[in-house]
Order: sequence, then structure tokens, then C-alpha cells
Amino acid sequence: MNLILLGAPGAGKGTQATKIADRYGIVHISTGDIFRANIKNGTEIGKLAKSYIDKGELVPDEVTCDIVKDRLTWADCTRGYLLDGFPRNLFQAQELDRFAEIDGVVNINIDHKLLLDRLCGRRVCRECGESYHVSTLGGKTVCARCGGELYQRADDNPETVASRLAVYNEQTAPLIDYYEKRGILLNVTGTEAPAEVLFEDVKAALDKLLA
Ligand code: AMP
Repeated sequence: MNLILLGAPGAGKGTQATKIADRYGIVHISTGDIFRANIKNGTEIGKLAKSYIDKGELVPDEVTCDIVKDRLTWADCTRGYLLDGFPRNLFQAQELDRFAEIDGVVNINIDHKLLLDRLCGRRVCRECGESYHVSTLGGKTVCARCGGELYQRADDNPETVASRLAVYNEQTAPLIDYYEKRGILLNVTGTEAPAEVLFEDVKAALDKLLA
């Protein structure tokens, strides 16, 4: 099962992605995580990516598509994969069609009023990628799941978040229509409720797809 996870920044894609990957035994591929690992390791790709990520802009399509194309050739993808954060525009979606076959696209719809606070209050685990909101941490600085250190992403600040949301609206949101027309879109509604609640809907949609 090869899937795409769509949704605005802050919709809860990362958390749902971990749960989907665990439950269905497929590999979670996040282009954002790949870029952040490259930045941490000081690679050329990392240096290039950082200059775009810091402004809330998209990393150039050619670089991003090459990374994903290569990643999908790894052995762990044979049982299926979940793309999180890719594709992010029509060009990337069309490129993906040339080298992959997608079975379903989970789209998390969410009220955009919730996103600014979610993103600016987000703390992420350096080890496992789990996300938390600062308001629920009670001052804790380590991950409840794996004990890893929690940090605030450099692009989770009000200015960068504003441009990330604008980029989503202009470039990524049209993909909803693209996959809807193809008949492979699975819509779920994100809320303020815990991630487990949303995951029930995600599971129901995916189990139906698999049936
Ligand atoms: P994310 O972790 O998915 O929120 O991604 C963080 C940042 O990485 C984005 O704001 C973009 O700058 C960059 N990025 C991630 N995925 C892509 C992509 N598919 N195309 C271009 N840039 C991307």
C-alpha cells in the first residue's frame, strides 16, 4: 500500500504518519525530516534546503523530487510507504506519477484558525519525531514515548509559519482536487481532540481502501 498524507502544516500529519506506518507496516517518508537530517549533518543538500526552509518556502522541485525518487528505491519500500510532506505542488505530483503508483491519499482537513497556535506551540522529539504542544507538557522537556529531547523547530515561529501557510494554500491545496478527480482521496477531519480520535477515522478510511 503506497500512500500520501496531505494536510496543512500543523494539521497533525507527523503524528498520524507514525500511527499509520506502525499499524499498516509501511515505511514513513517525510521530506521535511530528510531535509532536517541533512541540515543537522551539514550536507550540501542541507545547506541549500535550509535557505528555503528558514523562509517558509519550498525547496526547489528538482532537488526534492530526486531525493524522493531515490528514497523509493530502498528495500524497505517494497512493503509500501507513506509519503508525508510530498508532493507539495502540482509539479511534484506529476513527477511522482512518473516513478510511483499511489493507492490512496489521506487528506486531513482542519480549521486553519487552529494552525498558528499549534505550530508556534509545537515541540518535537529529536529521536522519534513525536509532536507535543507546549501547553500540555507541564514544563517537561523529554519525550513521553522514547525519552528523547524535545525541541522547537526553527521554522515554527510566527513569521515563517505565515509563509508556510500561504505556500500551502497556493501550491499544495490544489492537490486535493488533483487526487479527488483520480478517485483516490480519503478525507478525514482534524479537530482539537487527541490524535487517537482522528486516527480512528484514518483507520476506518484505510481499512475500507484495503478491503
Ligand atoms: P515539513 O516538515 O513537512 O513541515 O517541511 C518543512 C519544510 O521543508 C517546508 O516548509 C519546506 O521548506 C521543506 N519541504 C518539505 N517537503 C517539501 C517538498 N515536498 N517540497 C519542497 N519543500 C519541502
